[in-house]
Amino acid sequence: MQVWKFGGTSVGKPERMHSIRNLITGDNGQKMVVLSALSGTTNALLSIAESLKAGQDDEATEKIEHLKAHYDSFIRELYKSSAGLSRGQQIIENEFSFIRSLVRIKPFTLKHEKELVAEGELLSTQMFQAYLDEQGVSSLLLPALEFMRIDTDGEPELDYIERKLREMLRPHLDKHIIVTQGFICRNPRGEVDNLKRGGSDYTASLIGGAIRAEEIQIWTDIDGMHNNDPRIVKNTFPIRELTFEEAAELAYFGAKILHPSTITPARKYGVPVRLKNTMDPSAPGTLIADKTSDQVFKAVAAKDGITALYIHSLRMLNAYGFLRRIFEIFEKYKTPVDMLATSEVSVSVTIDDLSNLKDIQAELGQFCDLEEPDYDQTIICVVGNFSADMPGIAAQVLNALKDIPVRMISYGGTEHNISLLLHSRYKAEALNALNTGLFSL
Ligand code: ASP
Ligand code: MG
Repeated sequence: MQVWKFGGTSVGKPERMHSIRNLITGDNGQKMVVLSALSGTTNALLSIAESLKAGQDDEATEKIEHLKAHYDSFIRELYKSSAGLSRGQQIIENEFSFIRSLVRIKPFTLKHEKELVAEGELLSTQMFQAYLDEQGVSSLLLPALEFMRIDTDGEPELDYIERKLREMLRPHLDKHIIVTQGFICRNPRGEVDNLKRGGSDYTASLIGGAIRAEEIQIWTDIDGMHNNDPRIVKNTFPIRELTFEEAAELAYFGAKILHPSTITPARKYGVPVRLKNTMDPSAPGTLIADKTSDQVFKAVAAKDGITALYIHSLRMLNAYGFLRRIFEIFEKYKTPVDMLATSEVSVSVTIDDLSNLKDIQAELGQFCDLEEPDYDQTIICVVGNFSADMPGIAAQVLNALKDIPVRMISYGGTEHNISLLLHSRYKAEALNALNTGLFSL
């Protein structure tokens, strides 16, 4: 079985849903089809939640009716028969009557917000599955809320998901198309919850891992992961193959195409992930798997909004336990450190979550000297296949950036990442310089 996930823009228009139907029935393979909400819906639902939290019930109602009107017109083009249309109408009336009922609830809590935002995926999957029925395509709608579960830390419970999913699929092994919701899940209290924004990719990977799928395909509206940011750099190209490690680095360091956690379950079970383009289905896209070709430089990605902290201590000379003390403070404030550089008496680290910065600085200040942090920094991450005995890798990267001030460099953490920190004002220049320096043919 394969898992195919379609994102918001891939289901965002009736004709796109028609194309998805053609895609998933194009061969006879068994598929689990994971859908996002229609594009714009999750944002609209969150904005309704904002109004409700602020007690602006009239504003919320207006937004709800506006969203419903969008669905009313969507289904008029989605379905071809009056029977299909009336089933679509029923789905929409049901879900919107639930949405409207939330306006009366006081106080409107986070639990209600999560129920509200789950409606996007509940709507898209029911509408699509009813469309398959109308078209005589046999399929099954598998409710994600019955098998997708997170623990108290918000992490998916892999064993539970695997057990539940297998149990629920067992009676339906003859079904070729199984539709389910991305993004939504339950928490340990049994409440509706979600895998955070963009979480449908993660759903697909969790399912793919759980059922040991042959392949996970993530269908979006671009032709795979690019070697550089196409919004900033001309002449980027889709990367044909990446290892799981390389893809994880890129997803984390800003390649928007994949939710950063997506790779983890797929990698754990060795299930390849293929990124495909709904608008150009025959394009090869990007294959993410255990092994790839030997190409040295694969891609460059950038992450903005980084702050660098500079920590010094003379007592660090010949001392041990100093790094532990520093990192315990970051741990205590649940603040991840992205990049790190050390000398005998100094440590520089970068963070992107500033919510506890003052407290972190106060605690570090008890045993270290702190320089003023540098804000508005960007991490540029060069990803590729850099085995330790290969000469000239760092030289090529630094040479490409020779005219740009670089604040920090991290090389050697893995064999496939060189990270550099620079002021965000140099980001575009740096991405372009790396494109010319590393990828020119
Ligand atoms: N609908 C959710 C979002 O917009 C999940 C997803 O699309 O992946 O974040
Ligand atoms: Mg997405």
